[in-house]
Amino acid sequence: MNISKKAENLIKEYAVCNYCLGRQFSNLGTGTTNYERGSTIKSYLTMEISQSKSDDNINILQQLSRSSSKMAKSLLLKWGITPEDTVICPICENKLKNINELTEIILAKFDDYELNTFLIGTILPKEWFERERKLKEGFDLLQTEYLKQEFNRLIGKEICKQKTLDTDFKNPEIIAEINPLTLTVNPRIASLYIFGRYNKYIRTIPQTRWPCYSCKGKGCEKCKFTGKQYQESVEELIGFETIKTAMSEKVVLHGSGREDIDALMLGSGRPFVLEVVKPRIRTIDLKELERKSNAYTEGKVRVSGYRWSSKKELVYLKMHAQHAVKRYRALIKFDQNISQVHLKKIESFFRDRKIEQRTPMRVKHRRADLIREKMVYSIRCILKKEDEMEVVISCDGGCYVKELISGDDGRTLPNISSIAENVGFCKELDVLEIEERIYKEI
Ligand SMILES: [Zn+2]
Ligand SMILES: [Zn+2]
Repeated sequence: MNISKKAENLIKEYAVCNYCLGRQFSNLGTGTTNYERGSTIKSYLTMEISQSKSDDNINILQQLSRSSSKMAKSLLLKWGITPEDTVICPICENKLKNINELTEIILAKFDDYELNTFLIGTILPKEWFERERKLKEGFDLLQTEYLKQEFNRLIGKEICKQKTLDTDFKNPEIIAEINPLTLTVNPRIASLYIFGRYNKYIRTIPQTRWPCYSCKGKGCEKCKFTGKQYQESVEELIGFETIKTAMSEKVVLHGSGREDIDALMLGSGRPFVLEVVKPRIRTIDLKELERKSNAYTEGKVRVSGYRWSSKKELVYLKMHAQHAVKRYRALIKFDQNISQVHLKKIESFFRDRKIEQRTPMRVKHRRADLIREKMVYSIRCILKKEDEMEVVISCDGGCYVKELISGDDGRTLPNISSIAENVGFCKELDVLEIEERIYKEI
């Protein structure tokens, strides 16, 4: 079936606007717009009809008149027939006429952010999609795009005309979700990701914000209405300058594992990806940020190795956290005196030794109670006092070191206390190193 026949069949039933008619043939011919296509087809149909004043042709002309064709209206007048009034387009409900208004709303929102790339995402009711699908099926319209795509394309083009921005289909810095029915725009800003490593030099702060035990974060007298159990965290300390610089809403620290609140993080530091949520500024000098951040957190936390990262790398980091070998320093106090014989026994026993750890009592409330197998690769011991020794332990990530020392009432087996035939507990714990081997840049 040729184009004019298909268009005629369509017009007979639906008095569609120029956009919606042209869109049904949008893959045919380039260098024009759907609006122009629709208008041309309507003019062509009118010209064909003008050759014979049949009842059928008058009906088609009235439909064209209802779909606002000026040419059809004047032909009807010439034939002495009153043309019918223009109706609202049954497909787009004339919302495509709101393109400029929507563009203005979007641009006003974009003004709040430093941007290079964007994408438009049009949200339309399901029924709209359905009725257009039926239309395409019913009239065998294959060379076509959908209304949603037309919105995206037209607004995208208009924005590029007015601003030096590029469309990016894969990783746009902003997605403007538009609803043409309500004339609302919801800007979704892509997060920034920064890779770095942190050291922690004090034994009183958790890695991330810790909700108050009493009020679960709502704010109460006990937490002085901060909602926090600890007033500071590594995340908040590192985030302070970042939030200021990027003018972001907040930051989320995604660490490659976490140390206990009372454990130091030494050596080259723990790898992390800092997610900067809803940044207004995206051009950031990371070296400068690192310097500023370290000045602010001095004596507590230090960051290093800042570089740009990605969501993909963040996922990778979280996935492989437990595979990284970690090195700890611990100070152990025993109930009874210990000797060099015990030290040697511990060192030779824990050589590539598999241990089984049932979820420790102290974390049972927030982690599933199950048994995890972990490897202890080596333990080096130095006697400090008659009943105290320092150990350097190499083991799998996710190994509970305090429980490896105490045994946690038999929940960790074997353990240092059982091999020493003594009861030991961890007085101090530091993370010395998190192995790089597994870690690679993406
Ligand atoms: Zn329309
Ligand atoms: Zn509270």
